[in-house]
Amino acid sequence: MKLSIFLYIIKAEENGGIMVKRIAIDMDEVMADFVPKQLTVYNRDYNENLTLEDLQGKKLRELRPDIKDGLRKYLMDPTFFRDLEVMKDSQEVIRELSESFEIFITTAAMEVPASFTAKYEWLKEHFGFLNDMNFVFCGDKSIIRADYLIDDNARHFKTFMGQGILYTAPHNINLTGYVRVNNWQDVRKYFLG
Ligand SMILES: [Mg+2]
Repeated sequence: MKLSIFLYIIKAEENGGIMVKRIAIDMDEVMADFVPKQLTVYNRDYNENLTLEDLQGKKLRELRPDIKDGLRKYLMDPTFFRDLEVMKDSQEVIRELSESFEIFITTAAMEVPASFTAKYEWLKEHFGFLNDMNFVFCGDKSIIRADYLIDDNARHFKTFMGQGILYTAPHNINLTGYVRVNNWQDVRKYFLG
């Protein structure tokens, strides 16, 4: 065995055997298409006709602060997150990334504790190829140790030690100064070229 290879193996073992880089991925508005469902139930119950266009640069709770509590109620429904559409190409790209990277799903589920079961079942149904030991239902994401974090909420990058990657969502469309990806093909390009 060449000395350089031998030293490389020793080094890897010193690092706890971690040789592959780790990508943490947020769920809502990154893997799961949260906004269309939110708009559907909101328009139905409040007799409105809001579209994605109306949400450019803001969240629904910012556009309609008067009914913040009503919007919150939707999220308290334990089934709300169960039937969200899967973001286009996310399954294929995450499967491909999982061959070269360690993938962790990191969702700030503590913000909506009623969502735990629905989120878990959703992940098992649509991303069954991932190890469920890599699902992280957390609160403050600063605890996450990963090389990258793909998220639509830039606030999580403030305390994140690795590289934040902003996944474009209507509410963050005007933010600048971040590495940004517009869709899962962009993610693919970023990591796999
Ligand atoms: Mg999100």
